[in-house]
Amino acid sequence: MIEPPIDVKTQTASALIADLLRQSGAPCVTSSFQHECVALVHMIIQQRPDIPVLFLETGYHFPETLAYRDKITAQWKLKLINLEAKQSVAGQEAQFGILNQTAPDKCCRLRKVEPLFSGLAHYDTWFTALRREQSPTRANLQEVESFKLPSGKTLKKISPLARWTVKEIWGYLHRHGIEHLSLYDQGYTSIGCKPCTALPVSADDQRSGRWQGKGKLECGIHIQAE
Ligand code: SF4
Repeated sequence: MIEPPIDVKTQTASALIADLLRQSGAPCVTSSFQHECVALVHMIIQQRPDIPVLFLETGYHFPETLAYRDKITAQWKLKLINLEAKQSVAGQEAQFGILNQTAPDKCCRLRKVEPLFSGLAHYDTWFTALRREQSPTRANLQEVESFKLPSGKTLKKISPLARWTVKEIWGYLHRHGIEHLSLYDQGYTSIGCKPCTALPVSADDQRSGRWQGKGKLECGIHIQAE
């Protein structure tokens, strides 16, 4: 299938955002402040400047990510909401040890999945910057899906950039003069918590630096309740 040009894709994404914002009583967007998240937040705040921007503050981020989050938040006057685990990193490590080495699924559940699902309970529409190209686990991603929380509540999960390539994301940032997270300049292609992020092992797999050697592709926040 021939892909439409980027300006058409941008118009399509903006129209989808407008449509869903009209329908929604309580929208939010999640952002890890990676390039696609920043592009998406930029698109959405053109239409809804005060949309809540949810950030998973796991306590394990790179300092560069936190500094960049704070800079963009201040520049764009974002309504940032940091979602945190019940336990501090120190408390978790004292009780369980270094879970990101011994049991990363549990660590992600405590520090990402549970805080996010609690946070999402306040909203009916969840915008994400997921893209099909990011991972085989995202290859069938649809722009509009429903997402069921463990509580039984169902949200609309909207991924306006589902069909965008990484090149198109960079193009969007450049066109709009948007500064990017400096870690990309060191060769990282997908950036999460520091202990679980390395340089990619394959140029063809943007997420191949995540959870290397831990047999894990996703943190679990995009896996819905059965
Ligand atoms: S990505 Fe790593 S450090 Fe972050 S919550 Fe998951 S296991 Fe823990």
